Amino acid sequence: MNKIEHIGIAVKDIEASNTLFAKLFHKEHYKMEEVESEGVKTSFFQLGESKIELLEATRDDSPIAKFIAKKGEGVHHIAFDVTDIHAEVKRLKEEGFTVLNETPKKGADNKLVVFLHPKSTNGTLIELCQEII
Ligand code: ZN
Repeated sequence: MNKIEHIGIAVKDIEASNTLFAKLFHKEHYKMEEVESEGVKTSFFQLGESKIELLEATRDDSPIAKFIAKKGEGVHHIAFDVTDIHAEVKRLKEEGFTVLNETPKKGADNKLVVFLHPKSTNGTLIELCQEII
């Protein structure tokens, strides 16, 4: 894995959170994007090499809606940049990690993404992402 690509934060109201985080960072978000398949609306802030992704559920069965119902708003996942997502999935499976989707799917911000189950990573949802070129 190359670096932390972004940290995902689950929020209830992405417009209100855009305002809040813009004040915090003293910088506006640079894009918003809806990922229909995941039932989320996302917003991205760039801070140097790192990004913060805000996630709001767009429907009740969205993983973000379930997360907020269970744990409230807050850090939802940490995403790591990888060079070859297929090779990483294979390696991590062999190491015993639980991969939630073995076939990488199209995520926000022009990325192929795979998630690792938090049960196999000390309670933290891990996202692997590879830029689609
Ligand atoms: Zn993410």
